Amino acid sequence: MERNDMKQDIVAEATAWLEQALAVLREEFPAHANPGQPCRIRWNALLCDADLVALTWPQALGGRGLPTSDLIAFHALCARFGAPQPINSIAHSILAPTLLQFGTDAQKAKFLPGIRAGTEIWCQGYSEPGSGSDLASVRTRAARTDGGWVVNGHKIWTTQAHLARWCFALVRTEAGSVGHRGLSFMLVDMRSPGVRVEPIRQLTGEADYNEVFFEDVRVPDGHIVGEVGDGWRIAMAAAEFERGIYFLPRVVQLEHELDRARTLLEQAQLDDADTGAYRHRLLEVSDSCQVIRWRVEQVVSQVAAGKTPGTDGAILKLLWSETRQKVIELQLDLLGERGMVGPDAAGAYCEDAAVVREFLWSRAETIVAGTSEIQRNIIAERILGLPKDKHANPS
Ligand SMILES: Cc1cc2nc3c(=O)[nH]c(=O)nc-3n(C[C@H](O)[C@H](O)[C@H](O)COP(=O)(O)OP(=O)(O)OC[C@H]3O[C@@H](n4cnc5c(N)ncnc54)[C@H](O)[C@@H]3O)c2cc1C
Repeated sequence: MERNDMKQDIVAEATAWLEQALAVLREEFPAHANPGQPCRIRWNALLCDADLVALTWPQALGGRGLPTSDLIAFHALCARFGAPQPINSIAHSILAPTLLQFGTDAQKAKFLPGIRAGTEIWCQGYSEPGSGSDLASVRTRAARTDGGWVVNGHKIWTTQAHLARWCFALVRTEAGSVGHRGLSFMLVDMRSPGVRVEPIRQLTGEADYNEVFFEDVRVPDGHIVGEVGDGWRIAMAAAEFERGIYFLPRVVQLEHELDRARTLLEQAQLDDADTGAYRHRLLEVSDSCQVIRWRVEQVVSQVAAGKTPGTDGAILKLLWSETRQKVIELQLDLLGERGMVGPDAAGAYCEDAAVVREFLWSRAETIVAGTSEIQRNIIAERILGLPKDKHANPS
């Protein structure tokens, strides 16, 4: 594609491309088979080759200079087509917008090309044993040394750390500091001596998460985004990108999962009482999906106007994750014994039982990126103005 044509209608371009690219992908990875890491790695490469990442980055930095509304339209389209999540979506949707907003020119020049080309995968090193919801209590520390820092600590639940070349981590750069003061947003090379990654196996049998140990890991000076000690502000902005853009395709996907539940109900051979009970459940989740649709519009207009989603992101994340669990439970119940088959020896599920994997996966969705309880705290305190939880995060 000619770079001059970049401002063309992204929806038309992406629609044509997605049809043919997904056909290629499905040849290699059947749609119902586990949409696991190999499939997501391949999808990331296809997107990079087609110049369909970095849509909103400035052209001078290898992007296409399109408005955020085009990025959102593209994500919605991918979700409608049932495209998998590209393996580097943490970089595309969380780190890149953070670097574009807060990074130095040198950091943009160093880190953005690898994301754009698909050669460098990123992971997010925030959580630690004892520091999840209360993220400001992180204990991983970085001490000053000649030309940089020496990092020691233990991160956990680090998605894709085993694949990642880089990690954006929250670390304590001010000895003796507490809470959100004294933290920095640091970019760590996962190939550095002293980095050790141990996999964690999850309910689905896959191992997407890891523990990461930093033992005297050296990080050069230019690898802190923002000022030293300003990491909390940067991480919170990144978290808003996470809730606003990273989750968007999965939120749009919910509509299609609801359609599948509707179809299963139409096909099910049930007596009147059971049909009534299932219809009631379907109505409840349909109503929630309608509310989610309105909330998506709210968040999308905020992001398109150049703002972060703020508390709207918390509402959307809470509604989506809890409704999705209910939709998948409904599908599973309607499938009955057809849905009881586990994965084959290669870890792939047959078409009906693919919902089993989604069921197992969806358990994690009310935890990732802030638990439901934490989203409720945010809504209670920042939207409803209720008194602050004295035991919660000091942010
Ligand atoms: C699928 C998945 C992927 C993840 N990927 C990453 C990643 O890539 N990088 C990363 O850094 N982290 C990652 N995480 C970790 C995630 O951010 C944490 O699991 C999450 O923040 C919760 O922290 P915790 O597990 O320590 O639970 P805790 O904070 O210990 O919470 C335990 C329970 O107590 C409740 N609770 C805690 N505090 C309060 C409060 N103040 N009020 C009410 N209830 C409270 C919680 O809601 C929860 O039910 C991932 C998690 C999952 C599930």
